[in-house]
Amino acid sequence: MSSLASRSVTSPTERREQLKAVYEQANGCTRCPLHQTRTTVVFGSGNADADLMFVGEAPGANEDKQGLPFVGQAGKLLTKLLNEIGLDRTEVFVCNTVKCRPPNNRDPHPNEIESCNEYLRRQVELIQPTVICTLGNFSTKLLRGDNTGISRLHGQAEVRTIGARAIRLYPLYHPAAALYTPSNLEILRSDFQRIPELLALGAPEQPGFEDEEVTDPADEEVTDPADEEVTEPTSEQIPEPFGEQDAESADDAEAEEPELGMKLEAEPSAVQLGLF
Ligand code: URA
Repeated sequence: MSSLASRSVTSPTERREQLKAVYEQANGCTRCPLHQTRTTVVFGSGNADADLMFVGEAPGANEDKQGLPFVGQAGKLLTKLLNEIGLDRTEVFVCNTVKCRPPNNRDPHPNEIESCNEYLRRQVELIQPTVICTLGNFSTKLLRGDNTGISRLHGQAEVRTIGARAIRLYPLYHPAAALYTPSNLEILRSDFQRIPELLALGAPEQPGFEDEEVTDPADEEVTDPADEEVTEPTSEQIPEPFGEQDAESADDAEAEEPELGMKLEAEPSAVQLGLF
């Protein structure tokens, strides 16, 4: 359905309801082969109206079991770094580039990233964050639409448009890359320190829709996967997130880790919806 410039009047409650609907759709997703091996769709967790959003790579074994993102060692570090800048996990929204675990924690394939991209775009449009921190190479390359690696980009904020929203994109090292490499941790910690000042800038100017007919994201549905053929993305659509390692890959460090888990205050069903 189309409407004229109605996106700006969508209330947080309406957006939250829309987000729940996207969650339901993602939950039954069979758009890519990962649905065959997943235990749970890891949609995301946190505040559905967050100013700050984190986008990681892909769920690992713990996340797949619990249906929640970043519940292992890397998640614990993410929570700690947030606390150090005076923020709580419940204030932010955390999700991943792909919502289902790649078998054996392998890197997500381009067709899997492309298949999942619409869920991420809708999350951004409905949560309407001011700042999106991409964690590691996969989300950075995807949301920038460019193959430049995280080692060159970390700590440099830029305004980007994702779907219907302009946001401040802030690439960071993946926390898993900082777990056992103190120099990466120091860089990540120091980049984190700038998050409050980015949030204080407020939302960047939004794309103007006044004179053109637009589709209200609240009216738009994620296409039923059953109706869509999965096609290999072109290299233009999905930058190749391979090649640079060290500070950039999520799974390597965490895959070796014993399960740590994290006590969550809310029922998983509530948290999965990202609704605190
Ligand atoms: N856990 C996640 O949910 N995502 C990652 O990228 C790594 C660990």
